Amino acid sequence: MQLEFFGAAGEVTGSCHIVRAAGRQVLLDCGMIQGGGDAPARNRLPFPFDAASIDAVVLSHAHVDHCGRLPLLVKRGFRGPIYTNTPCADLVPILLRDSASLALREVERANRDRAAHEAPAEPLYDLEDVDATLKQLVAIPYDTPRELFPGIKVRVRDAGHILGSSSVELSVAEGHADGAPSGATSRKLVFSGDLGQYDTPILQDPYRFESADLVLMESTYGNRRHREREDTERELGAILAQAARDGGNVIVPAFAIGRSQEFLYLLAQHYGEWHLARWKVFLDSPMAIAASHVYWKHPDRFDEEASRLRASFRGMPPLPNLVLSETPDDSRAINNVRGGAIIIAGSGMANGGRVLHHLKHNLARPECHVIIVGFQAPGTLGRQLVDRRPEVRIHGQRVPVAAQVHTLGGLSAHGDQEDLLRWYDSFAPRPPVYLVHGEIEAAEALAIKLRERGATATVSRPGLRIDLAGLPALARDSSLT
Ligand SMILES: [Zn+2]
Repeated sequence: MQLEFFGAAGEVTGSCHIVRAAGRQVLLDCGMIQGGGDAPARNRLPFPFDAASIDAVVLSHAHVDHCGRLPLLVKRGFRGPIYTNTPCADLVPILLRDSASLALREVERANRDRAAHEAPAEPLYDLEDVDATLKQLVAIPYDTPRELFPGIKVRVRDAGHILGSSSVELSVAEGHADGAPSGATSRKLVFSGDLGQYDTPILQDPYRFESADLVLMESTYGNRRHREREDTERELGAILAQAARDGGNVIVPAFAIGRSQEFLYLLAQHYGEWHLARWKVFLDSPMAIAASHVYWKHPDRFDEEASRLRASFRGMPPLPNLVLSETPDDSRAINNVRGGAIIIAGSGMANGGRVLHHLKHNLARPECHVIIVGFQAPGTLGRQLVDRRPEVRIHGQRVPVAAQVHTLGGLSAHGDQEDLLRWYDSFAPRPPVYLVHGEIEAAEALAIKLRERGATATVSRPGLRIDLAGLPALARDSSLT
């Protein structure tokens, strides 16, 4: 009975951990590494395990840093089921197909620029690999235990981060011939996945757990306090008012799944109050448009307010002046718009995608505004904007940054330090906690806070192994009954 950390240990992206128990190997997430010049090369490295020997994957949610390397896992021999919650199973195809197309475009660009003696590059994976991966997806309902193998059960709970985000409860039992719990050693592990803020728009709050023997917890904003939600919304209203006075455009790099829907939802909520009729709002992302339709299909996961809003609108996102830009021509047409446009486009960290064109056209103009609404990994263009670089490079071209850049941490899909501690505080007694999915400083800061509460907190590192049977048994329902 063992847990080993592979990815998102000491960094935010590339989530991947492995549980070995009852003669099986179950992977938690298989995400893409993002940001930093070496990310593409690191994604191509062999997995530190044999892909064909993995029996199953449990996927926490549909963000690329959690599911982006699943097709590579399949390409390298994994044939088992990929369990995830039902809305997530609807979102994964959108995300993985986009990821494969992106990989293909990158390789085409690299091959155009390569020297004559260099071998042509191959994409990380292609659409066929994605199709094969999708056939291995198994949707499971929230809050219902499911036996994966004798001795291994899983239950997914809402993590309140994006639609279809889960925290994963995993029960493992060993020591009996048929893996039955009686007479066996059993332990319960809770993997937080990515945790949302409390009282976030659209979604329900993260599930309140009661007990576990071991907690694996994200720490993205473990050293940060977001501003209060009302203050953040007031700030956004003020930025849009200033932008209207300045007469330029507003660019919002946003993840297609999650931030785009929430940002549009906020605009819908404040439509009258913020005088938004004077703007044209572009959702310039086929992926975000597709994800919005999936959001609207799952009102059972909404909070009360979103359920009410849904009852009065037919379409998602509910905004009268919204333009959905599906095709590249639709997107290019926005380049001629000099003012009065709020442009929401991916990628969320501005390290690729259509938002690059909009930034190229607007960054040098002081009357324009950029609103950063999500986490920006080191090495990405988004992070350079957050760090107030006076000049950036886009598509090899130097672009001075004269536009006003605003970072609205309060709109993040991730809870802050207070949210994370609140989530952990529901466990009694306090289980040992291993921190993942955070840069070292963030994880260390959260570890200090957790230790002040009497918890044993460790910042995980790749290759760290934990003997689960050696942990004290704390969970009351370790067999997920
Ligand atoms: Zn996420």
